[in-house]
Order: sequence, then structure tokens, then C-alpha cells
Amino acid sequence: MGKTLVTDALVVGAGIVGASSAYHLARAGRQVVVVDALNGPAEGSTGRSFGSIRAQWADPLNIEMSWRSIRRFRSFPAEHGIDVGYRPSGYLLLVPDAAWEAQLAAVEVQRRHGVPVEVLDVAAAERVTPFVPAGIAGATWGPADGVVDPHLATSAFLTLARNAGAEVLFRHRVGAITSDDTTGGWHVTASGRAIRAQHLVNAAGGWAGELAALARLTVPVVHSRRNIYATAPGALPSPLPMTIDLGSGVYVRSEGPRLLFGGARPDQTDGYDTTVDWPWMEAVLERAAGRFPWIAGLPLDRGACWAGTYENTPDRHGILGPDPAAPTWINACGFSGHGLMQAPEIGRLVAEQVVQGAITSLDTSALKLERFAVAANADQVGLVF
Ligand SMILES: Cc1cc2nc3c(=O)[nH]c(=O)nc-3n(C[C@H](O)[C@H](O)[C@H](O)COP(=O)(O)OP(=O)(O)OC[C@H]3O[C@@H](n4cnc5c(N)ncnc54)[C@H](O)[C@@H]3O)c2cc1C
Repeated sequence: MGKTLVTDALVVGAGIVGASSAYHLARAGRQVVVVDALNGPAEGSTGRSFGSIRAQWADPLNIEMSWRSIRRFRSFPAEHGIDVGYRPSGYLLLVPDAAWEAQLAAVEVQRRHGVPVEVLDVAAAERVTPFVPAGIAGATWGPADGVVDPHLATSAFLTLARNAGAEVLFRHRVGAITSDDTTGGWHVTASGRAIRAQHLVNAAGGWAGELAALARLTVPVVHSRRNIYATAPGALPSPLPMTIDLGSGVYVRSEGPRLLFGGARPDQTDGYDTTVDWPWMEAVLERAAGRFPWIAGLPLDRGACWAGTYENTPDRHGILGPDPAAPTWINACGFSGHGLMQAPEIGRLVAEQVVQGAITSLDTSALKLERFAVAANADQVGLVF
């Protein structure tokens, strides 16, 4: 083992969350090392994401996390001279009758937070994306929602972090972690390299629970497979924005000349699995064809389909902030399928936690690890709910 690398903050994970955290920490003047087990940026969930971003949430915290992040993606070219692929192609949510009142209430909250959102009647929504209107009360349209390029955004944050002095090490898998009772920091071994860090940021995505277990901490995050299916190029007459049929959970959008579509499998078992689920494609197609009958005539391209994993927590909300038993261990994980769209703000808040010792600029108490009843016995890695 060579010389021990000593740093203020060690960020484990070079996905979008770790990259954003590293940038914000380095910009705040902190000494930062990023390690990732894989060969390059965004090789975990980030690079397999759908790239879609929206501020249309129902609660103030998610609205703020997403809306602040969208504005950061939008201002990347002006602020840093880098295009991260933000395109305001919009999000159209098709709302069933039973959910309409709640959706209108959510729109009010979004508008109070400055999010541009329009309420459309069925005829206006059909002009955006053609669909069968049975059971649909109306739609909401977020014109600033859209897409970002996960690879470009992650690489951009890492470049900016490096420019601010951060060191980024790929092919470094953290395999051992011990706490240092004297300093309150961490001794880490990553693929044979010894690292001593005062703060450790757990940005290990779906592996966050395994990383925490190395330090005898408990973080309830699991991998859950999601699939994106694709048509052959040239099949679509015109581009379509992200359109979600809230009743069935099916979503469609175009990507260049293709249509992409998907929908969560309710009985998906937990675990790391990135093989495409073909039987589920048939089920999604059937559901989608009920709302978007034109999809049935489009030629599919199996070679363009892919799968990745969400990093799920039990309540499908992220975990942000220190471990209650180890204040220099900062969790930034478990965003359960919305980590990309909130990463700029997650990273800013991670840096705030490290620099100020607390997050004060936004009430993120709903994202504390403490909301889960964690096994009191440190030897027990499982959870008690
Ligand atoms: C099919 C699909 C569609 C999605 N669509 C969207 C979407 O439209 N919008 C959205 O916002 N989100 C979406 N998501 C979710 C999004 O991809 C994740 O929320 C986000 O990428 C999480 O980023 P991360 O940096 O936390 O994790 P990751 O990108 O998984 O990064 C974690 C990194 O930690 C590293 N690591 C783990 N353990 C160790 C270790 N012991 N030592 C060293 N390194 C380690 C891994 O190698 C990995 O690179 C989608 C996900 C999938 C799979």
C-alpha cells in the first residue's frame, strides 16, 4: 500500500450526485477526493437514466429540489460555458378524473414556488400528444421541464470539481472503512489505496447500503430494475415531449428519431439487474396502447432498449444529511429514481452540511435518515420498521 491520501472530504461515487457534491465542496474551498469503483463517470444508475427532469411535484421540498436544479442545468452554458444537454421539451401529465382535484392543488403549490405550469383541457392536451381521452379530466404542462444529458452533466460537474482542485480516482472500489475515534474522521481502503478523510459523502447510489455496512452503519437503499424500451428510428412523424399517463403509470417521449417508453413493474424484485425485462415490455405495450393506440403500429428496436436500477428507499424519498451516530458521514443517496433531476441542489446541500455543519438554506428534515427506525444494535445491519 502506497502513501496514505489525506483529504477533508472523500466522496464515494462518481455518478451525478457524487459529481455535484464534489464540485460544490471544491468550490467551497474544501479539499476533495472522489473515488468510484467503475471506469469512468456516470457508469452506475446515472448513465442508464431516462434523462427527464421536472418540477411538477406535489410537495414544497421536492418542488424546490427539482426547480432549483432545473434552473442550474439551464444556466450551465451561461455560468460555466458548458452545455449539459438541458432542453425544455416539457412534461405533459394526463390526469385521471379521480386525481384531478389533487393535481390542481399541486399546481397551486408549484406556482407559489415560481414554477411555470399550465392547466390544459383534454382538447389542448391532445394537440401536444395524441391520446384516448376516456377517464382523463385534463392535463398539466410544465414548459420548463424536459431533459438533460446525464453523461454531459456528470462530466461537467467533475471537470469543474477538478478545476477547483478535486482529485478523481476511477477503478477505486471502497472495500474497508473504519472510523477514527480521535479525529472523528474515516480511514478508507479503496482498491489497495489508503485514504484518510475528515468527512465521507455516501453518494454510492444503489450501493449506498452496502457502503454504509462497511462502516457498520445502516442505510436502507436497494437497487430496483427499471426498463426503457425503444422504437426504431424514423418511426415518429413529429417529436413528443415526456408524456405520463398518471392512471397507468406508462410514459412516452421521443429521443431524436425514436420513441422511448416505459412503466414501473409493480412486482419488480430488489437487486442489481441490468438485463432488459422483455416479458414486461409486452405488458407495458398493452397498457400504453390503451392510451396511445398509435404506439401499436411502431416498429420496435430491441437493440436500443436498456435497463438500469433505481436506488430505492422504503418511502421512495432520498436520504440527505449526516448519520445521527456519525456526524461526519454524510448520506446523499436513495433518491429513488429522481436523483438526476435533483442532483445540482443535492450537491449544494451536501457542501452546506460539510462547511456549516448543518443544512439551513432549505428545510430538508423530511429527508433525514432518522425517519426510518434503524436497528439499535450496531451489529445488526437489517432494519426494524
Ligand atoms: C432506467 C432509469 C431511468 C431513470 N430516469 C430518471 C429520470 O428520468 N430522471 C431522474 O431524475 N432520474 C432518473 N433515474 C434515476 C437516476 O438515474 C438516479 O436517481 C441517479 O442517477 C442517482 O445518481 P447517483 O450518483 O446517486 O448514483 P449512481 O449513478 O449509481 O452512482 C453511484 C456510483 O457509486 C459507485 N460506487 C458504489 N459503491 C462503491 C464503492 N464501494 N466504492 C467505490 N465506488 C462505489 C458506483 O460505481 C457508481 O458509479 C433513472 C434511473 C434508471 C435506471
